[in-house]
Amino acid sequence: MRYDMAIIGSGPAGLSAAINAKIRNKNIIVFGNDNLSNKLVKAPSIENYLGFYDISGEDLRDKFKAHIESMDIEIVDKKINNVYAMGDYFALMSGDEMFEATTVILATGVEYGKPIKGEEEFLGKGVGYCATCDAPLYRDKKVAIIGYNKESEEEANFLSEIASKTYFIPMYKREGLMRSSDGLDSSIEVINDRPVQIHGENLVNKVELKQQEIDVDGVFVIKDSASPKSLVPGIETEGPHIKVDINMNTSINGCFAAGDCVGKPYSYIKSAGQGQIAALNAVAYLDKLK
Ligand code: FAD
Repeated sequence: MRYDMAIIGSGPAGLSAAINAKIRNKNIIVFGNDNLSNKLVKAPSIENYLGFYDISGEDLRDKFKAHIESMDIEIVDKKINNVYAMGDYFALMSGDEMFEATTVILATGVEYGKPIKGEEEFLGKGVGYCATCDAPLYRDKKVAIIGYNKESEEEANFLSEIASKTYFIPMYKREGLMRSSDGLDSSIEVINDRPVQIHGENLVNKVELKQQEIDVDGVFVIKDSASPKSLVPGIETEGPHIKVDINMNTSINGCFAAGDCVGKPYSYIKSAGQGQIAALNAVAYLDKLK
């Protein structure tokens, strides 16, 4: 089945794109997570979202959820690892599953933190962003997962079935130090320390942490959003952001982007507004193909 529009991201940009595409009767698929967006949930009080003065992030999330449910929009709880432009459609890969869509809207948000030293240098040379995709490369090898969200625990468990040794370095807030018994396979060694640098020669061979070093063959950095270039090969970027024009067109025909992933200000209402522009221009693009 080929969708008219695939929307990647369930924050305000992706959801606004989804409701506008749905109003225009397009056949859409939205990828994200049940929580909608960690950045929504984390805000204690929001003062700049028109009509909802001083609302908490959780309450705004609930309003967004009720809105999309009323319009029968479902979120597919899957991470898209790669988007390939195939000419007249796009192939979206999630692990070993593939989805097809005529247009794509990237609404993936942005990681606020800087990459770890060595992360970009060794990307594809031992550093990866999707453990479930690349796991076979690490059969009987030593790997570290640097996990920025709770979902990274699942990737660690998956990898531990294949690798000879799996280290898990939790980077997200939790109460107290993490132990191996906390939802992780007992074979996984948890390291409660901060990574400083990923080292290697041609390939990764070591992770330096504040208090120790560990020898590894691979490192997976699991964040909410991957860098645009690793998600969509060939897409033009400006620093950490996807380059777009005023209509939210990216450098790839049929591929649009909106929200934090295209630049500052990082804000809910700007993201929602850009999601609408992206969706309406994707609709116009689809209508021209008829
Ligand atoms: P996001 O909300 O980041 O959503 C992106 C979604 O896409 C996420 O759910 C992510 O998991 C998903 N995703 C990413 N990649 C993939 C993939 N490959 N496959 C599937 N899903 C994927 N802004 C304000 O205007 N007012 C405020 O008061 C405010 N307070 C804030 C407080 C905090 C603590 C934080 C962290 C941010 C705050 N912001 C505030 C900023 C605001 O959260 C962001 O600007 C906004 O959430 C961006 O929306 P977005 O849709 O672009 O991306």
